[in-house]
Amino acid sequence: MLVALTEDGNRIYADEAQKKDQYGNRNKFYCPDCGSELTLKQGTKNIWHFSHKDGNTICIFRKGKKGESIIHQTMKKKIKEIIERDNEVIVSELEWKIGSRIADYYCELKVHFGNIRKVAIECVHQHNDIDEFRAKSKYYYDRDIYCLWIFNLTRFLDKDNSFKEEVRVNEIIKEAHTSYFGKVFALDIANEIIYAIHLSNILRETESVTLYDEWGDEYDVGGESYFLKGTKSPSPVLVNELKLNKFTRKKADTFLGYNRSICMVDLPKWW
Ligand SMILES: [Zn+2]
Repeated sequence: MLVALTEDGNRIYADEAQKKDQYGNRNKFYCPDCGSELTLKQGTKNIWHFSHKDGNTICIFRKGKKGESIIHQTMKKKIKEIIERDNEVIVSELEWKIGSRIADYYCELKVHFGNIRKVAIECVHQHNDIDEFRAKSKYYYDRDIYCLWIFNLTRFLDKDNSFKEEVRVNEIIKEAHTSYFGKVFALDIANEIIYAIHLSNILRETESVTLYDEWGDEYDVGGESYFLKGTKSPSPVLVNELKLNKFTRKKADTFLGYNRSICMVDLPKWW
C-alpha cells in the first residue's frame, strides 16, 4: 500500500514519508483502514510502499493473501501522475476509501456549470475476478462515481515489447471493452503513457479439401469462415492526454463509428 496515517492522523504517501523525525526518533505509521502498525519500505528495488507489520492482520488492504503486488502499486502511482498531468483535479488521492471499498485512485474535477465529476480508477495487473469487477463498477455507479479500469499494457505485448497480433481476452477485458464502447485502456508503466486499445474479432477459415463424388465431379469441403474464440486482435491508439472530462458517451461512439448494442445491461457504460 502507498498510503498510511502518521501519528497525528494525517494521510501520508510512502514516497514522502521519513523513517525518522528531526530528532532521530523512528516515525510510526498506521493503516488508514484497520489502524494496525505499518512498516515503511523504502528500498532501491521496489516502489516505496508500506506493509502491515503483522503478516496475519485481516484488513481490506490485505485482500488476497499478501496484499497487492509491487507492479499493481506502481501502476496506481503512475496513474495518479498521468491524471494530475492531464487534468485539473481538485481532489487526487491514491487508495481512497469509498464506503466499504478502496479505490486504487480517486479524483474529482470540475466540469461544466460548476459540477463536479468524481472518478475512481482501478488498475488491473493480473486479477481476473469478473464478479469483483462488476460489483465494484456497480458500487461506484450507484454512488455517482465514474469508474475507469486500466489494464497493464504488458498483457497486450510480446516479449520484445511489440503489440501482440493475437491477445487472449478474459471476461474483464471483454466487459471493459463493452463499457468503454469498444476499447480498453492500458498503461505503459515504463513510458507513463496510456493506450486505448480496440479489440477486433479474428477471422479464420477452416481447411478446404477437394473431394470427388461417385461421378468423378469435384466438390469442396471446408473453407468456412469463423471467428477465433477467446482471442482478439488489438488496434492500439496512443492517448496523448487522458482528459477525464472529455469522455462522454457521444465521444465514445464517435471513436467507434457505430453504436454498440447494450449487452451488459447491469453494467453502466460511461466512456
Ligand atoms: Zn490494515
